[in-house]
Amino acid sequence: MAQAPVRVLIVGASVAGLALARALRLAGLRPTVVEKLPPSVVAGAGIFLPGNAIRALRELGLDGPLRPLGAVIRHQRFLDSAGRQLCAVDLDQLWDGVGECRALPRADLHRVLLTGAGGEVRHDTEVCDLEVGDETTKVAFGDGSYAEYDLVVGADGRRSTVRQLAGLGGAAHPVGQIVYRSVVSGGPEITEWTGLLGQRAGIVVMPMGYGRLYCYADEALPAGSAPPADPLVRLRDLFGEYGHPVPAVLEAVEKVQVAVTDEVELSAWSRGNVVLVGDAAHATAPTLSQGAAMALEDALVLAEMVRTRSSIAEALAGYESRRRPRTQWVLDRTRDRDHTRDVSPALRDPLLRSRGSTIFQEHYRLLIDPV
Ligand SMILES: Cc1cc2nc3c(=O)[nH]c(=O)nc-3n(C[C@H](O)[C@H](O)[C@H](O)COP(=O)(O)OP(=O)(O)OC[C@H]3O[C@@H](n4cnc5c(N)ncnc54)[C@H](O)[C@@H]3O)c2cc1C
Repeated sequence: MAQAPVRVLIVGASVAGLALARALRLAGLRPTVVEKLPPSVVAGAGIFLPGNAIRALRELGLDGPLRPLGAVIRHQRFLDSAGRQLCAVDLDQLWDGVGECRALPRADLHRVLLTGAGGEVRHDTEVCDLEVGDETTKVAFGDGSYAEYDLVVGADGRRSTVRQLAGLGGAAHPVGQIVYRSVVSGGPEITEWTGLLGQRAGIVVMPMGYGRLYCYADEALPAGSAPPADPLVRLRDLFGEYGHPVPAVLEAVEKVQVAVTDEVELSAWSRGNVVLVGDAAHATAPTLSQGAAMALEDALVLAEMVRTRSSIAEALAGYESRRRPRTQWVLDRTRDRDHTRDVSPALRDPLLRSRGSTIFQEHYRLLIDPV
């Protein structure tokens, strides 16, 4: 950009915000990053990163610090609820030349991104108001202070305040899915991503290294349903009758995090010099495990646009038009896959036995291509 934006504010220090901070720093800018939570809040549970997330981390120069963390996942095995194999996906083959797939504690990914951001993150700092102007945006913080910026980036997640304040969209829409997550130590030995599919419910277990397992389960319920009062009891009720290895995993589960999933679909991602990245712009249910990958790719593309386009307006337009086809693909495929929850296993399972591997690989086809 002829005149690079000097004052850049990134709101949110999670995957999208920290990755963008690094990408902009590599492009020679010095963004300010604010995060409403204190530094003592550590992300729980695990995360599964498919090959395109690892490619984006490599492009950010962060694959080195990531390599010793978690476990490389080479296969996905899809089983019926009794534990009989329906199909398998060879992930090394699917993501050949892109990146290996990895499962790791979320806190480890966060640490890598936080170190990589290469500058101070102002924790305990919440954005409360925006005045979007023609050239600059005035931002009000929770401590009563104000500052003006040439570019404001909402990396503040699916319930984004920036999205609301900039008039880009309202609340996220619940998709009718409740998700249970747990990190398990001392469970059975599991070496691959193993998913057991029931009707309107499923459970996935994968290794995260050092004997830890990441357990992820979901159930489809009418949109707006409240999470259960005791998620551990509900998890055991839902999956207690499932086949191997689920009973041994449930036996080892001690703590469960529960979340209601929702999605964000917007007609525009920017207004004036305010733009959204990551879940704030395009959250989906986590079915394809593409949330982090999309956030990381957003960061790379937005930084490239800021570096190469002649104005903020051109950079933001270029960013959105390059990113939309991929995020729309993820949203559409996620909805496709989630709709199959309503199909009875009697109809679904024969199809998955004969064509499951092809169907599941097809969901990632567009994402194999470079960003
Ligand atoms: C149950 C579940 C399981 C998932 N599993 C996977 C998976 O296995 N693989 C995968 O790739 N993705 C997964 N995802 C998706 C993934 O977690 C998200 O896509 C990813 O975290 C998006 O990152 P983000 O930085 O855009 O938003 P977030 O991670 O939501 O971060 C937003 C940040 O902004 C901060 N913030 C919010 N408001 C303000 C404010 N006003 N001022 C300052 N700071 C603010 C928040 O505190 C937070 O730190 C899952 C999601 C869910 C719900």
